[in-house]
Amino acid sequence: MHDENTEDRQGVLDEHFLRLALTEAGRGAEEGEVPIGCLLVKGNRILGRGYNRMESLRDPTAHAEILAIGAACQALENWRLDGCTLYVTLEPCPMCAGAILNSRIGRIVFGARDKRLGALGSTYDILRDNPLHREVQIKGPAMEEECLAMLQAFFREIRSRKKAVSTDLAEDVAGGPGLK
Ligand code: ZN
Repeated sequence: MHDENTEDRQGVLDEHFLRLALTEAGRGAEEGEVPIGCLLVKGNRILGRGYNRMESLRDPTAHAEILAIGAACQALENWRLDGCTLYVTLEPCPMCAGAILNSRIGRIVFGARDKRLGALGSTYDILRDNPLHREVQIKGPAMEEECLAMLQAFFREIRSRKKAVSTDLAEDVAGGPGLK
């Protein structure tokens, strides 16, 4: 098989799984959570899903990535996620980047950049600078417009209801396209 074909195929799969991560994010939005979704995949098999649930679980660590990693570890009955790819709609924060390193995930595809807290190059570069010298492949931003659009729509909706937003992310995405 030619490399180019393999790359094309991987690109199609990445888009497919990132869309499913967006569906997870949408579930969060329906529950009033900041919509960020995540999927863990190994060999095209989905091992774990998650969306941000900080409000409903009253837990600042209940990020989409942490919940999806936990679900995948339960499914595999193993905390080592070697060979897994993590798909997430927003660039992971330092906490999640740490969890990605600890769980030995080999590849990450992320949607939109997080210019305030992004730990895959936007503010920090935790996975490339990691002292464990683990190799983690990073692809992103990918489908950034779509991933950002979901966050922007969520904050726009909240603002229109004049609800208090208790997250810094609201300010960040408010500065993005289409929300001036
Ligand atoms: Zn996080």
